Amino acid sequence: MQAEINIGLFGHVDHGKTTLTKAMSGKWTDTHSEELKRGISIRLGYANMSIYFCKSCKSYGNSEKCTCGGKAEFKRTISFVDSPGHETLMTTAISASSIIDGALFLIAANEKCPQPQTAEHLMILNATGVKKVVVVQTKLDLVSKERAVEHMNEIKEFLKGSVAENAPIIPVIATQDVNVDALFAAIEKTIPTPERNLKDSPRLYISRSFDINKPGTEIPKLKGGVLGGSLSQGVLKDGAEVELRPGIQKKEGSPPEPLKFKISGLRSEGEELKEATPGGLIAIGTTLDPSLTKSDVLVGSVIGLSGELPETSNTVSIKYNLLARTDIDNPPLKMAEAIVVSVQTATSVGVISNLSKGIATIKLKRPICIDKGSKAALSRRIGQRWRLSGWGIVT
Ligand code: ZN
Repeated sequence: MQAEINIGLFGHVDHGKTTLTKAMSGKWTDTHSEELKRGISIRLGYANMSIYFCKSCKSYGNSEKCTCGGKAEFKRTISFVDSPGHETLMTTAISASSIIDGALFLIAANEKCPQPQTAEHLMILNATGVKKVVVVQTKLDLVSKERAVEHMNEIKEFLKGSVAENAPIIPVIATQDVNVDALFAAIEKTIPTPERNLKDSPRLYISRSFDINKPGTEIPKLKGGVLGGSLSQGVLKDGAEVELRPGIQKKEGSPPEPLKFKISGLRSEGEELKEATPGGLIAIGTTLDPSLTKSDVLVGSVIGLSGELPETSNTVSIKYNLLARTDIDNPPLKMAEAIVVSVQTATSVGVISNLSKGIATIKLKRPICIDKGSKAALSRRIGQRWRLSGWGIVT
């Protein structure tokens, strides 16, 4: 069943996200090895789970079989969205915020709160505009009861004045499955599935692109290219005639040309769908030549109905704010400075060509196709690495 909501996982890398996701869903399906190699480029990991409610014992769980022996009722399927590493998580949380409906914010009890990375994640949560937040106090098995209470008070103090000020704080011991049912209850109460306007023009941002054919397959047996991504709005139907932008550059130096094709199959978690709506990772079968989709070359592109996508552009203007980073010096942006712009799943290096009234205009090396109003993350080079320095709105 397709997930109906995406919940982002926030928190320090060591604060137990993998263990918690395993405890909640019983599995962790996505591996991040590939994106670790790719540095700052956008790769989202998804883990789906279904929530059930047992009427006999009034508790939530992840299975139809309740621990009390009763039969639980299916509530909904949730997709947890994560990104590896501190820098990429912050960048993707901003750039992909259009597909994030709520957040779990993990804070480990075995360290004083806030740790610098935890403080930065709260700053990012404020920047994304994601308001439905559940705070999870993790690793309680590593501290005394007194320390756990003290830590809870540190969390409350830390959240004051932030978007998560009134968020419920749920203590859990993920390794021993303690209080995970209370976490499910808090998610159900605090992060309801938003009402979607399914009449909006669909936008699906590509985060995966493959050639599924084995080497040496005979030409008549070749399968079309496969794309994966998430819908931020609207509906895509199997069989629809769609367009993908920016598309393919046919000659060096020439602008990319949009690709037009027919959707030949939609899947989510291995199940076939007649139509896809926002929530989770969607795989799309296409009639495209698989050589065009191999090795993630189309990551960062967008799919929509023919004629309904914005123009592809080499420049982007962003009304921006700089972030107060705790670990790096982050002076004002400068003319001609190199900047990495991340919007939705697209990442492009560029150079600042104008700075005026809080708006940065950036000339991009790789053109992008994005709607105005999208959130953008800006990274600058500090030492040998690209570091998240600001965020803004595409104008
Ligand atoms: Zn029960």
